[in-house]
Amino acid sequence: MTEKITSNLKKYFGFDSFRKGQREIIEKILEGRDVLGVLPTGGGKSICYQLPALMKDGITLVISPLISLMKDQVDALREDGIEASFINSSLDFETYIDTLNEVRKGKIKLLYISPERLDNEFFRDFLRDINLSFVAVDEAHCISQWGHDFRPSYKLIADLYNIIGPHVQIAAFTATATKEVRDDIINNLALKDPFVKVTGFDRPNLKFIVRKPKDKLRFLKAYLEDRQGKSGIIYASTRNRVDKLQRYLAAAGLSVTKYHAGLSEAERKKAQEDFIFDKKDLVVATNAFGMGIDKSNVNFVIHYNMPKDMESYYQEAGRAGRDGENANCILLYSAQDIIINKHLINQSSNLAYRKIQLEKLQTIINYVNTNKCLRAFILEYFGQDYEGDCDFCSNCLDDIKKEDKTIDAQKILSCIFRLDQKDMAINKPKNEEEFLRVKGVGEKKLIQYGDIFIAEINEYIRDNKF
Ligand code: ADP
Ligand code: MG
Ligand code: ZN
Repeated sequence: MTEKITSNLKKYFGFDSFRKGQREIIEKILEGRDVLGVLPTGGGKSICYQLPALMKDGITLVISPLISLMKDQVDALREDGIEASFINSSLDFETYIDTLNEVRKGKIKLLYISPERLDNEFFRDFLRDINLSFVAVDEAHCISQWGHDFRPSYKLIADLYNIIGPHVQIAAFTATATKEVRDDIINNLALKDPFVKVTGFDRPNLKFIVRKPKDKLRFLKAYLEDRQGKSGIIYASTRNRVDKLQRYLAAAGLSVTKYHAGLSEAERKKAQEDFIFDKKDLVVATNAFGMGIDKSNVNFVIHYNMPKDMESYYQEAGRAGRDGENANCILLYSAQDIIINKHLINQSSNLAYRKIQLEKLQTIINYVNTNKCLRAFILEYFGQDYEGDCDFCSNCLDDIKKEDKTIDAQKILSCIFRLDQKDMAINKPKNEEEFLRVKGVGEKKLIQYGDIFIAEINEYIRDNKF
């Protein structure tokens, strides 16, 4: 069996050896076991279900969240001579029916669908009719409220047991490894005695850098001008900011496109292609960009604004350096980012959701403020032990001056306490300087804290120390 698996890897995909975790996962799927595979972005999750799909009888259903990428994935498989097809709302009725007929005739080995399809009565009948091998759930963290990309439609997947019967084999995959998400996936998909494989999350060729530049724009421009011709992604938090940044960088003579959900489908497709095929060096984008995009030579990923949690950050940053070359993952942040993120979270009327999101935001606030090894911080967050320092992140490499500021911090905090300024500290003043001035505590020494100051206040308030 082992030999067969290896020869098929070569035959269908042209690879000589497996990556970490792939072989074990494939073996368990072939044995008929439920599986949860947690592999980092770029770790090679697709082959974990594509290869057994080709080796097992019947058809494999692949549930995937992104309609826009299904066609590309299926086209890529077809180029390798693999009988794959997809069904989603972009198909006209005729093509839909043709596809179903091909499946019925046994001509298709892999059928990609979006989860919403499981709600369709016609499709449910169809599922009862065919010889289903197993179900692969890609981006399975979408089923978890703890995940960074919760999609209610993923809850429909458990309906498969009602449609088909109790013995549906499911193999779920994600790059998000926190315990809450893992447990949610297992419970919500009702996986039976699953084989759970979590492979190493370390990406040794990625250099993690945190910066708090006074002028982000100037920092960015200087950085990019230094790296002309290199491919990079710049993530910003809003469409508006993406538009502005892209215009600014283009005006500075850089080769840059943009991507966000406010653009038309054609514009997005063009942006994506221009970037993937190196017609443009850079793309400025919101977090709508990137899922499933497989571009190997991304030399850097810059976050112009602080993402809302570590999961999103590591997934987006992980799009750099897939070719194994050294690549930079730079997070630029300011106190403003924290305030905006908090504000967005507090817009929700769902208290439980707010609590979860605020806790997750706090973790990334801790990340940008920590002075320990950034890689160690990330890996520990994802439940992986990491001994020592990496000597390759900005905290390991920078000469950080450590000073004991406990007394000053205590002064600040006691001042806030005395003034009972909980809300004020978070929301009202435009910045910490203004806050101190308004309240007559404007000693220079306190102001020097800058961003960290606000972060600390928030941390203390969250911990209900007041
Ligand atoms: P993920 O879904 O885990 O982010 P993909 O399945 O898209 O990752 O795979 C990322 C890249 O790695 C793809 O280009 C894929 O062809 C390649 N890849 C996967 N498995 C192997 C392997 N065993 N050897 C070489 N390349 C591989
Ligand atoms: Mg994938
Ligand atoms: Zn380090």
